[in-house]
Amino acid sequence: MVADPASYGFETRAIHVGQEPDPRTGAVIVPIYQTSTYAQDGVGGTREGDYEYSRTANPTRTALEQALAALENGKHALAFASGMAASDAVLRVALRPGDHLILGNDVYGGTFRLIDKVLTEWGVNYSIASLGDLDEVRSAMRPETKLIWCESPTNPLLGIADIAALAELAHVGGAKLVVDNTFATPYLQTPLELGADVVVHSTTKYLGGHSDVVGGAVITNSDELRERLFFLRNSAGAVPSPFDAWLTLRGLKTLGVRMERHCSNAELIAETLSKHPKVDRVYYPGLAEHPGHSLAAKQMRRFGGMVSFTHVDGEQAALDVASRTKLFILAESLGGVESLIEHPGRMTHASVAGSLLQVPGELLRLSVGIEDAHDLLEDLRSALDAS
Ligand SMILES: *Cc1c(COP(=O)(O)O)cnc(C)c1O
Repeated sequence: MVADPASYGFETRAIHVGQEPDPRTGAVIVPIYQTSTYAQDGVGGTREGDYEYSRTANPTRTALEQALAALENGKHALAFASGMAASDAVLRVALRPGDHLILGNDVYGGTFRLIDKVLTEWGVNYSIASLGDLDEVRSAMRPETKLIWCESPTNPLLGIADIAALAELAHVGGAKLVVDNTFATPYLQTPLELGADVVVHSTTKYLGGHSDVVGGAVITNSDELRERLFFLRNSAGAVPSPFDAWLTLRGLKTLGVRMERHCSNAELIAETLSKHPKVDRVYYPGLAEHPGHSLAAKQMRRFGGMVSFTHVDGEQAALDVASRTKLFILAESLGGVESLIEHPGRMTHASVAGSLLQVPGELLRLSVGIEDAHDLLEDLRSALDAS
């Protein structure tokens, strides 16, 4: 690639950045560099590319990182062994004992657990706020607030936060804004361009896209943060394997086309569900009645592939639907080509039961896949009609 990657469109960057044909063999696809170590030219002298040990760096991982940075329009990307490892690194680099952070009231359950159960033991304090309400966030800010941790859309209620406004609010208070961009993906939303300081991803979800790999990433424009994250990752070792990096890179190539289809299918399903007599409320930012609709239309390209809804007849009826669908597989996780259904209260969000983050029992969450939309609608209809 001779041109500046930023001058290419999204799909071109996904397929080409960091992925030039292998200079030695001409292999069109970046090889899986399944090696732990690298020959050195002399004591202390690495060969070109300065690889010396694969915890520190590996060429397959480097390719993935270059592509990820280009997709988020960021300067630096670091790949991690999981989304939680990526989040953990950001939290540990940004916070010291006595520091405070603000979390959204439907932050990913694993992130909440990490902060609530692990970080608090190291003297870090947190407050929960509805990030859609800027006044609430402003009044949660303290002199020692160092981070605002934002998801938009949120999980599982698909709330929308104003990323640009949160970034400004954070910066006025001397804090940084982290955006977990897992649900939107860089195809739909690029938080660094809206003023965020750090983007984190669970690449396990849409970026990998095929439910066959667990991974995470951090993207930032800050040279200083990148150095500190790199140092921590090399010290603590939460790196993805070369094969995992390769699978994620392969998934990335089709992110744009997959997201278009995820969005189209989800829009149709959200509209159809909102008219079904067994459905009480549909949570999807693409619906005009969603409170975050106009904000989502402003900061996102489309509205994503996640849809949640409540059953009119309560929790047991919702559980029945989740066990009756055939194409929608009953499983945790999201973002793969296949559609999934889950009951957040008893599955993904069981760990937040009894806390401020508790979700309604009659709620179901769909990760709408890229199958034939008619088949997906029929599957949901027959499960709902029987409930
Ligand atoms: C899955 C997920 C994570 C955690 O990522 P893992 O790859 O499972 O460690 C973090 N944030 C969000 C929004 C997620 O969906």
